[in-house]
Parts: sequence; structure tokens; C-alpha cells
Amino acid sequence: MMEKTAVGGRDVLVVVDIQNDFCPGGSLSVPRGHEVVPLINRLAERFDHVVLTQDWHPPNHLSFASAHPGKKPYDTIIVDYGPQILWPDHCVRATRGSEFHEDLSIPHAALVLRKGIHRTIDSYSTFYENDRRTPTGLVGYLRDRGFTRVFLAGLAFDFCVRYSAEDAQREAFEVVVVEDACRGIDVDGSMAATRESLRALGIGRTTCGAVG
Ligand SMILES: [Zn+2]
Repeated sequence: MMEKTAVGGRDVLVVVDIQNDFCPGGSLSVPRGHEVVPLINRLAERFDHVVLTQDWHPPNHLSFASAHPGKKPYDTIIVDYGPQILWPDHCVRATRGSEFHEDLSIPHAALVLRKGIHRTIDSYSTFYENDRRTPTGLVGYLRDRGFTRVFLAGLAFDFCVRYSAEDAQREAFEVVVVEDACRGIDVDGSMAATRESLRALGIGRTTCGAVG
């Protein structure tokens, strides 16, 4: 049986992108993405400190296939910072698709962090945009608040959760991914690649039942 992880005052839960467009019926639906909502609501009750993130793009964002004539969703293009997968238009700022799932209920969350706000850079990680240099500001917030361990849950496991976990570790936070409170998209084997990367980096993985 997995050992229970006790949550303390230096721990923060970062809830990644629980938005309509990433749930069934949305434009970039993560299969069974909505299933994590009640799990995350209950998980969050065990944390004094919670941050919510939102993918929040301007119209015509670089990551949208529609912004590139002749390209279609899931094609990969090369941009200034390297390869970029193209997605259906999603999470356009201040649209219904960018709103949190209506059942998400974490009233004590202290910060809503928006990412992907620059038209010419995508952002999977909640810490750095895809050029790996442009900060979202979350590192500074977490350090300023004195948090040392970051728990991650949300959508999608194999993109925004994965890159957030890797960046958090690189920034010297202890990192724990609450794996059953995540769902993935699985583009070209990205689920397996994510599990392999987390394992290779020694990033902690747990389940909701083992946190509290
Ligand atoms: Zn996006």
C-alpha cells in the first residue's frame, strides 16, 4: 500500500486548467477530463493553499491550427522556440470555453494564474511558456509565499501537468503529481513518454487517497 503523504503549511496544490474546452463537449476535449472535478474538489479541501491555473489565449493564437493556412490540428510546426503542436482553437480568453468547469468548487483558492497570454508563445507549463524562458510569475509567487512542495493535479496529464512538474522540479521545489486526479490527451505516445519522464526525473507520483 502506498504510504500516506501528510499535507502541511509549506505545501501548495496547483490545479491545472480545469476548463470547459478541456472537458467533454469542449473544443480540445481531454477524454473523461470532467471526471477529475469531484476528485480535485475533495483533494483541495485537504490543502490550506491552492492555486488555480487557466489556459488563456488571445484570438488567433500561435498554437491554433486555424492561425496557419494549410495546417490542421495535431500537425507540428517549427517556431522560434522549436517544435509546436497545433491545436484546435481553445480557451480563447473570456469565452465560455476558457471558463472553469461549472462544478469546480475551491473557494479558498488564493490565486488564479493565467498562461498562454502572449499571442506568439504557447504555454503548457504553469511556470514557463514554451520558450522555457518567459515566466508566468508562479515561481515568484510560490517562493514569496514560502511554499516548498508543489502538488499537481488537472488537465492534461501529458502536457500542462507534465511540463509544470518538470519546471517545478527544475526550480528546486519538491513535486508530487496526484496521478488519478489527472487525465491525458495522448498525442503520439505522449502518455507513456510522460510517465517515463517523471520516473527518470524522480518526480513523486501519488493518488488522492494517499494525500491528507
Ligand atoms: Zn492552450
